[in-house]
Amino acid sequence: MEEVPRDEHEGCQHKQPPEDPSNHAATLATLVVRAVLFDWNNTLVQFTWDDELLAAGHRAALRAVGRDDDPTMFTARHRERVVERGGPDEPYEALLRELLVDASDQEIDAFIDAEHDAWASAYEVLGSAQAMLESLRSRGIKTGVVLNSWPDPGRVLRRDIDRFGLADLLDVIVISSEVGMRKPDPGIFRLALDELGVDPLDAVFVGDSLATDVQGAANLGMTTIQALWFSADDTPSIEPDFMAFTPMDVLNAVSRLAR
Ligand SMILES: [Mg+2]
Repeated sequence: MEEVPRDEHEGCQHKQPPEDPSNHAATLATLVVRAVLFDWNNTLVQFTWDDELLAAGHRAALRAVGRDDDPTMFTARHRERVVERGGPDEPYEALLRELLVDASDQEIDAFIDAEHDAWASAYEVLGSAQAMLESLRSRGIKTGVVLNSWPDPGRVLRRDIDRFGLADLLDVIVISSEVGMRKPDPGIFRLALDELGVDPLDAVFVGDSLATDVQGAANLGMTTIQALWFSADDTPSIEPDFMAFTPMDVLNAVSRLAR
């Protein structure tokens, strides 16, 4: 008989009382952790918005495709159409086609690449991401990323994951725009787990968003860990199984689950 995880570890709380038979604790006690999946933005990488970079990105991108649109005017139109009114229902490429009259598909792609490159300084990878993933894999645990992409297309995000040295440490990468589902749809989590051949009950999801990461993964039966190192979501009524203030808390939670 395995022990039910307790609250003894500082900063790594088990949020549900083990005596409540209707909760997840009974399954946590006998869980075998075969996979740990992660969110991307504000979990493995931190992104900081910067108005200066919005303008710099447009200057660089217009130059890259040889357009003579006025960059200041372009940024104003972009801000109104993309930043304020845009959303995942409309691919970024389609919005840019509205803003860049007569641009070819190649020009749209080149624009996005140059713009994204200009934002490089706004992204910071979690310092211990590699060590955390290596540690999980050394225990025979599969790893992966499930991310909601917008406006960046999947190819740009895959390049980032590679640039940060994480591509070889991830067994599966599922990107919403490539599969036509977004978190919290349980289907996108299932897709990643099916690719790994892992049952949701044997899998953990780590993410900063309670509504998209924690709720979505919990609805599929995954164990959930709220990542609090980059952002502190406090959406009421959604409780993760564990809270992690550091990546070490993730490893400790997984150790306790797998005991
Ligand atoms: Mg996130």
